[in-house]
Amino acid sequence: MIEGFDLTGRAALVTGGGTGIGKEVARLLAQRGADVMLVARRADRLEAAAREIAEETGRRVASLSCDVTDADAATAMVQEAADRLGRLDVLINNAGMSSFSALSKMAPELWDKDVRLNLNAAFYVSHAAIAHLKAHGNGAVVNVSSLAGINGTVGCGAYSAAKAGLQMFTRVAAAEWGPAGVRVNCVAPGMIATELAKRGWAKVGFDATDACKVFPLRRPGTPLEVAQAIAFLASDAASYNTGETLTVGGGPQLKGMIDAD
Ligand code: NAD
Repeated sequence: MIEGFDLTGRAALVTGGGTGIGKEVARLLAQRGADVMLVARRADRLEAAAREIAEETGRRVASLSCDVTDADAATAMVQEAADRLGRLDVLINNAGMSSFSALSKMAPELWDKDVRLNLNAAFYVSHAAIAHLKAHGNGAVVNVSSLAGINGTVGCGAYSAAKAGLQMFTRVAAAEWGPAGVRVNCVAPGMIATELAKRGWAKVGFDATDACKVFPLRRPGTPLEVAQAIAFLASDAASYNTGETLTVGGGPQLKGMIDAD
């Protein structure tokens, strides 16, 4: 293991850890030596993912079913995770998704739902976890935002606003918790071909290959490519990084007047 990336002896909690980016992060953290708790709402899918990663890596990988938008449930879940793992060093606030609606047609309840999941839940879980993360003087939180939180996405107004808020939560939490040895960083993925994303694109007839023509790397990213950035920020390899948002989006999307290359 390259020095700084080894997570042996650490315990990690990954929300939304049963599918997509969260599952790849959980796998990578376990491959690097961490014990991992996967958290999401659907117990069956989570248990299967935990079993798969445990068998593959030989690490202790368990799961807890929890709706992280419920502050009380999130608090109880974090305590149970810390009790079962014996400690908590790494928190990945990854659970998130977007509704689709024009702002003028968006019901206030839908706005609230997206903000609760993509912003409030990260606060609830972090707030419950902070004492555990501080306990060994070397904790790390990584929040999963989105390029939608930087550029904005039409039809995903609440999600875009919440993901932008998550980047500022990252900065303030980093400033408040840094003196106690807890780093807080964020990744902002672009278009990532998770199974659920691919199914969603097919359903609305969205042509990802065509959409990627504006990205320098000309293709959607993979869940593993996002997981690698998250695992970096969660590890000692990023020991002097805090309050940062790292985009994982295939490069800057610039417009030009001539075909330059
Ligand atoms: P995904 O749907 O596979 O993952 C989302 C996870 O969150 C699921 O496991 C789901 O069960 C969990 N979840 C949803 N609501 C929850 C709740 N109330 N309580 C607990 N768990 C809940 O999709 P993904 O693409 O892997 O998304 C992971 C993160 O990456 C999300 O925050 C998403 O916004 C972000 N992201 C994804 C993309 C992309 O293109 N796939 C782009 C930018 C950002």
